[in-house]
Amino acid sequence: MRTMIVGAGIGGLATALSLHAAGLDCVVVEAADTLGPLGVGINLQPHAVRELTELGLGEPLAATGVETSFMTFTDRFGGEILALPRGLAAGYRWPQYSVHRGELQMMLLAAVEDRVGPVRLGLRLTDFEQDGSGVTVTLRDQVSGRSLRERADVLVGADGVLSTVRAVLHPADDPLLWGGIRMWRGVAETASILDGPILDGSTVLVSGSNLAGKFVTYPISAADPTLVNWVAEVKVGEPGVVKEADWSRPGRIEDVAPHFASWDYRHFDIPALMRASRRILEYPMVDRDPLPFWGEGRVTLLGDAAHPLYPVGSNGGSQAVLDARVLARCLATIDDPRAALAAYEAERRPPTSALVLLHRSLPIEETVRLVAERAPDGFTDISEVLSGAELAAMAEAQRGITDSDVRALNERPSWSV
Ligand SMILES: Cc1cc2nc3c(=O)[nH]c(=O)nc-3n(C[C@H](O)[C@H](O)[C@H](O)COP(=O)(O)OP(=O)(O)OC[C@H]3O[C@@H](n4cnc5c(N)ncnc54)[C@H](O)[C@@H]3O)c2cc1C
Repeated sequence: MRTMIVGAGIGGLATALSLHAAGLDCVVVEAADTLGPLGVGINLQPHAVRELTELGLGEPLAATGVETSFMTFTDRFGGEILALPRGLAAGYRWPQYSVHRGELQMMLLAAVEDRVGPVRLGLRLTDFEQDGSGVTVTLRDQVSGRSLRERADVLVGADGVLSTVRAVLHPADDPLLWGGIRMWRGVAETASILDGPILDGSTVLVSGSNLAGKFVTYPISAADPTLVNWVAEVKVGEPGVVKEADWSRPGRIEDVAPHFASWDYRHFDIPALMRASRRILEYPMVDRDPLPFWGEGRVTLLGDAAHPLYPVGSNGGSQAVLDARVLARCLATIDDPRAALAAYEAERRPPTSALVLLHRSLPIEETVRLVAERAPDGFTDISEVLSGAELAAMAEAQRGITDSDVRALNERPSWSV
């Protein structure tokens, strides 16, 4: 049985490694004609680190990423509202890592090329059709413009938030939805602007609320602790449907810095940190409504193609890795591929659909906004601003979008087959 995986992002590459580890044959096709280390920072939660470790990638991951200690929320002055321990410190048997998305992708690509074979680059899926014995896939060679038709037993659309596989399966009424928040992102080289690390050098620091303006920083390189990923999230418009969302679109400092010019922020100079970045990228915070079904017959979806999440829970890449592992387990243990894909969808669609809606509700932002309203000039002790119950609810809400149950994850048998 041969599976064709469409897309060599984190989801597609993790799928290839998972299928290979389960003894199954696969090929990855990717529209881009070269794969470079694109993107900025991303977090991998312990549930995904477990799966990547079981795929034999624990060591390269530890050599690439920063083991995250805390996720700390502050107001616009940098006053600490809440600090949540992460990874091992939260009781998991696996760490959380903050990594450069592109470096993670390159690490997965190297493993795929070593174990499975080369990714077939420059091939864009444009269409597919199924019959009783397989799937006929139409691919366009991006250089020659020629169309190729190939057969596969199973087709997995891991082609991201703008998925063509999803569009073929769900041709009507599945728009890209924007909540009105724009994100600017960059990687700052902080050696010349900071005397030392931000906080303990391994914290995800989240300041302000994206209902107004929010600034997130975290270090992303085990090799170079001065490299700091940043994301500015600002509400600039009203919710609506958008046509495009390009992760690589350049952003301009003059569009983003003014939103933070009035911040009296104790940890660092925000505009200076932005200026210390070689390039700035801009992206609308978008998702899509959960689907009533992912796939049909021998075709399914995975990762952002199946369940694009607002990046407020640091969980999108991690959920794609979980999809990959469950899909491989189902295909390896259930004889009929159609039944295997149905079992995969039954296991993964309900929890990820719930996560899409939970992320979209921005569950902690209202509490951070309340802090700004009650303490407009900052505070020295958060217990004078929020009650214990309000703080506990905020912690619970953040855990709901980011975490797994610690005990369940630690004690669950391996998904390896
Ligand atoms: C260039 C890029 C930069 C990103 N940067 C960040 C970031 O900085 N921070 C962050 O948190 N998240 C980022 N993301 C998103 C993040 O990688 C995903 O949310 C998450 O990892 C889930 O990955 P995925 O594999 O499902 O989708 P993606 O990572 O989006 O990968 C989808 C892949 O499919 C390919 N593809 C699309 N259509 C077709 C087609 N028709 N035929 C063949 N191939 C196709 C794309 O070229 C892409 O390589 C980025 C995604 C991309 C593509």
